[in-house]
Amino acid sequence: MAAMQPMQLFAANSEPTVIILLGPPGSGKGTQAVELSKAFGIPQISTGDLFRENIKNETPLGKEAKSYLDKGALVPDELVLDLLFDRTQKPDCAKGYLLDGFPRTTAQAHELEDSLRGKVHFIVFNLKVPDSEVIRRLSGRLVCKQCNRVYHKDTTPPKVPGICDNCGSTLYQRSDDTEAVITERLRVYYEQTKPVETFYKNQNILIEIDATKPANEVLEELKAACKK
Ligand code: ADP
Ligand code: AMP
Repeated sequence: MAAMQPMQLFAANSEPTVIILLGPPGSGKGTQAVELSKAFGIPQISTGDLFRENIKNETPLGKEAKSYLDKGALVPDELVLDLLFDRTQKPDCAKGYLLDGFPRTTAQAHELEDSLRGKVHFIVFNLKVPDSEVIRRLSGRLVCKQCNRVYHKDTTPPKVPGICDNCGSTLYQRSDDTEAVITERLRVYYEQTKPVETFYKNQNILIEIDATKPANEVLEELKAACKK
């Protein structure tokens, strides 16, 4: 049977497309990024996943980043930018990619803009959910150790408890998904990441999405906006 062709993105025939998913922790960026990546055939780049990978492998970057992730603070911009640009230079990013968890500060947004201006087409979504829903979602989140697929213990549990439907590996609860660290991550979001919305609003390219809807409905809205 022939493999399914990925859908064409809005600007697929001209310049590479960079899709940015903004929104508080727990708004569903990772959940949507996995599906959009499959639909459009472009890689998902999660800076959070890249840091956790470095921490697991005990790299120098991982050792430096760990204390920031543990307390719910942002990793300093210079470390994030090196990590990101290293990843986006890989050949699989040539047609575009999805950013999940980047940019998280206006300085990061400016750096991205400066390095890509005129070379790519940006699509920027803002996934909106209230704080109460963020807390509910994150305190029940389960993540696959191997493929990073995301579940929720009550609303989207795996078929077999503790096992990933996708790859059969073990699920775990992130060490920063505790009440105290979630509260700090939300505080940091309002202080440092929310202003990034204004950066894209001023360019008239911010697309607001009601991310309290079921994940499949959110996905359809995102896909429709990507093809406009
Ligand atoms: P983020 O990447 O923005 O931190 P995730 O994609 O990891 O968020 O989702 C956080 C939690 O919320 C997970 O447990 C996930 O299963 C759940 N979730 C994601 N999208 C929705 C949705 N639209 N409705 C309900 N729960 C969702
Ligand atoms: P996430 O997986 O997106 O929830 O990110 C987990 C943690 O990784 C954050 O709380 C930060 O400590 C760090 N992190 C991820 N992305 C960034 C970023 N763009 N800038 C700074 N820190 C980041």
